[in-house]
Amino acid sequence: MRTRAKRTVDEWVINGTKMWITNGSVADIAIVWAQTDEGIKGFLVPTDTPGFSAPKISKKLSLRASITSELVLEDVHLPPDSVLPGGNRSAWAALLSQRGPLRHRLRCPRRGAGLSGGSDRVRGFRARSSNAHLPRFSSPRPSLADMTLELQKGFLLALHLGRLKDDHRLQSQQVSLGKLNNVREALSIARECRAILGANGITLEYPVLRHANNLESVLTYEGTSEVHQLVIGQALTGENAFG
Ligand SMILES: Cc1cc2nc3c(=O)[nH]c(=O)nc-3n(C[C@H](O)[C@H](O)[C@H](O)COP(=O)(O)OP(=O)(O)OC[C@H]3O[C@@H](n4cnc5c(N)ncnc54)[C@H](O)[C@@H]3O)c2cc1C
Repeated sequence: MRTRAKRTVDEWVINGTKMWITNGSVADIAIVWAQTDEGIKGFLVPTDTPGFSAPKISKKLSLRASITSELVLEDVHLPPDSVLPGGNRSAWAALLSQRGPLRHRLRCPRRGAGLSGGSDRVRGFRARSSNAHLPRFSSPRPSLADMTLELQKGFLLALHLGRLKDDHRLQSQQVSLGKLNNVREALSIARECRAILGANGITLEYPVLRHANNLESVLTYEGTSEVHQLVIGQALTGENAFG
């Protein structure tokens, strides 16, 4: 983290940039994390503060309907009460919980392009079984069964982790387990559906490739697979994976 906030007598001054922030160009307030002489702190930054800008990132091939921006902070002056309360420890906990509201985030794919996207796909195949475009041979059936199996396993994992969270027993490495599995499987299901449809699968007539493309973003912004694997590996071995 290279963004820095410096405390002067009566204010904070922040300098730095952050790529890839959803809705950054339309938000009224940005939550910005920065290094300070007292450790990492979180700041509430009204986006009309002089020195703040959020240019839109264009030419995306994935999640094209969603606005993604770069946050640029050049000598942004903030009052002392713009710091998130609770000291550095709480700020970090807030940051981690912000990236890991697991129940909500694992359900997001359900609502959109992810697991239930897969489920819609499976239902869609069923509904279209009279459709001449859908291959009639038996091979898609094992695929559909496997997809349904992974879909249900993903639901159960999300449900289990959501219950642990409700019970205040959820650990961050378990969040990584859920995200690693469910996003990876959602993407795999969408790709498999694309393959079952053959050449039709790359057309706009069927939305599966659009879902797969959007899930490529989810695979990154929910934390990349490699980083989740490092988190899980560290929890299993006790060895620092991030050195
Ligand atoms: C559409 C979109 C919207 C986003 N919205 C937000 C948002 O609103 N807020 C926000 O905070 N972020 C957001 N992000 C950013 C996202 O969280 C980051 O892109 C993500 O954390 C990955 O960081 P990076 O892009 O810098 O990749 P990098 O960290 O540079 O990683 C590149 C590759 O290297 C691998 N890698 C990195 N470190 C290691 C390691 N130690 N060992 C092995 N492999 C490693 C990664 O797994 C990945 O494959 C968004 C991203 C996208 C695509």
